[in-house]
Amino acid sequence: MFGQSFTVARIFGIAIEINPSWLIIVAIISFSFSNNVFPDQYEGWSTATYWAIGITTAALFFVSVLLHELAHALVAKRRGVDVPKITLFIFGGVSHMAEQPRSAREEFYIAAVGPLSSVGIAIICGLVAWVAFGRQEQVEAMFVWLAGINAMLAIFNTLPGFPLDGGRVFRSIVWGRTGSFRKATTVASNVGVVFGYIMIIGGIALALGGFVLNGVWFAFIGWFLSSAARNEAQSLQLESVLSPLTARDIMDRNFATVTPGASLQQVIDRHMVIDGHRAVIVANDDRVLGILTVSDVRKLEPAERANTAAQAAMTPRSDVVTVPAGTPALEVLMLISEKRLNQVPVLEEGRMVGLISRREILDRIQVANKLGFMPGSSVDRRLG
Ligand SMILES: [Zn+2]
Repeated sequence: MFGQSFTVARIFGIAIEINPSWLIIVAIISFSFSNNVFPDQYEGWSTATYWAIGITTAALFFVSVLLHELAHALVAKRRGVDVPKITLFIFGGVSHMAEQPRSAREEFYIAAVGPLSSVGIAIICGLVAWVAFGRQEQVEAMFVWLAGINAMLAIFNTLPGFPLDGGRVFRSIVWGRTGSFRKATTVASNVGVVFGYIMIIGGIALALGGFVLNGVWFAFIGWFLSSAARNEAQSLQLESVLSPLTARDIMDRNFATVTPGASLQQVIDRHMVIDGHRAVIVANDDRVLGILTVSDVRKLEPAERANTAAQAAMTPRSDVVTVPAGTPALEVLMLISEKRLNQVPVLEEGRMVGLISRREILDRIQVANKLGFMPGSSVDRRLG
């Protein structure tokens, strides 16, 4: 998400992870409670008290966010969907489900319990504030705010902008009506994207109206939501296009091979410019020595290219990431994006049989998309 998260606890077998971006929001919220909110509302506390109450309120707020996520996770687990971890990050919390929900009903319950739990927490905090009212000013201050924030959390999460809880509830309803998980995801994520844009526009309007910080924050969340919604639709599409395929199905068998002694300029002229290969294999007879890519070539000054041999500029085989021909296509794509590769040679019994390039996979998905082609969608099959 934003840097490497670290695990801080384990509850009901679920790892509780904290993303570094979370620390920023904890600091901002603690600071604004201690320095602005409470001093503006309540007079006569000591500085230490403002800070102690401010930090405690921020901490309890994050406990509420965690409880909200745990509610999702526990309902999911009860229904047999594993939840390996919950991550707290700058925009709140995320429960990671090991798989997509298997039925509309299942998704409905898992999503709906989130806002409900926030409503429950808001009511409990409201009761505590009510009991403390006029008796214990600090407790009153903390719980009035916690009740308010949790109520807002509940309302915000009820909005139909996928991937918010409300958007998931919306998807489950469309799914239930149409019987198609894919169609429901497309509809829900389109609504989510629009919702994100509305938040961005609203944020800009707020900022122009003088509420700069709130406006920027609003727009930032809108941007995050719209890209999350778009990602969800895309990854589903990827999954349905790629899941029946293996590396063998998507590799290019017509890769170019050059000898180790070939001049770089020749390789560029013939293979890269004329034939359009972004990578060629450097091999001696059947023995692959390495791969020469456009980025390898670009490391050299144009003047040097004429008298450099392919072998001198290539990435040696020991440094090249390869995959066996039977690797699922989705795994290859994940490898490519994780390691930021442009192409991956495909091996079969130690021999190189093809080349997969990032560009070609993406082209294939685009073509499939344009043709409305969804091969026997394994996703719908799995979800039943
Ligand atoms: Zn939620």
